[in-house]
Amino acid sequence: MSHQARKRFGQNFLIDDQIVNRIVATISPKKNDNIVEIGPGKGALTFPLLEHLEHLSVIEIDRDLISLLKSKKQEKLIIYEADALKFDYGVISNNLRIVGNLPYNISSPLLFRLLSEKNQIIDMIFMLQKEVVDRIVAKHGSKTYGRLSVMMQTFFEVESMFTVPKESFDPKPKIESAILYLKTRAKPLTENTKLLEKIVKVSFSQRRKTLKNCLKSILNQEQTEIDLSQRAEMLSVENFITLMKDYEKQN
Ligand code: SAM
Repeated sequence: MSHQARKRFGQNFLIDDQIVNRIVATISPKKNDNIVEIGPGKGALTFPLLEHLEHLSVIEIDRDLISLLKSKKQEKLIIYEADALKFDYGVISNNLRIVGNLPYNISSPLLFRLLSEKNQIIDMIFMLQKEVVDRIVAKHGSKTYGRLSVMMQTFFEVESMFTVPKESFDPKPKIESAILYLKTRAKPLTENTKLLEKIVKVSFSQRRKTLKNCLKSILNQEQTEIDLSQRAEMLSVENFITLMKDYEKQN
């Protein structure tokens, strides 16, 4: 069955066996792992992964690709026809390992969605736009450090594994990709995701202004030990947690 790649579903299919092998080696699947693949597509990663596993769950939104996967009749494959953004991950299991060559158009909202499921997740290995991976792993003081870096690093240990050239896909995307590894922290730096999100969002609302300026309606210098004459990008993840706790004390 032939399949026309759909732009609206961010479809760029992996066609490079070497890269597939490297991704599978990075995932390092163990027989009884509860792996969930988001966006299996035509199965470029799915079938090599299945060779190592007792079972594999996949979530795919495109009906035609669902039919294609079903036609391969793999008993170990559990197929969910669903939108990964709205999917209830609780129906699968705890101790999830989530993997996928993610549709680029939904990568940030999907990462935030999975952040809210972090207690069920052991780790995640994703292919993303290299630019997004660089932002997630960025250290404070760098230009790419921002909201996504702070939020992801608070709850996960993050590592950029390797880059993937455009030629490894069909159709060929305009941008480079990279593999990101996220391991859920055993002890997260905070449990208050919502409040941290609020503080981080306001802090980075005007990147070129000082924190004093960005936070003026919610926190002043007398209320925190963090130096507010700095810009948000200078604050480490731990500094943001302190800022959030100082805000909490006032409210
Ligand atoms: N894993 C395949 C590969 O590497 O060749 C396909 C990767 S392709 C970049 C992204 C896949 O995610 C497509 O199969 C697409 O249909 C699927 N997809 C897009 N949006 C989705 C969503 N909201 N929920 C689940 N799957 C989605």
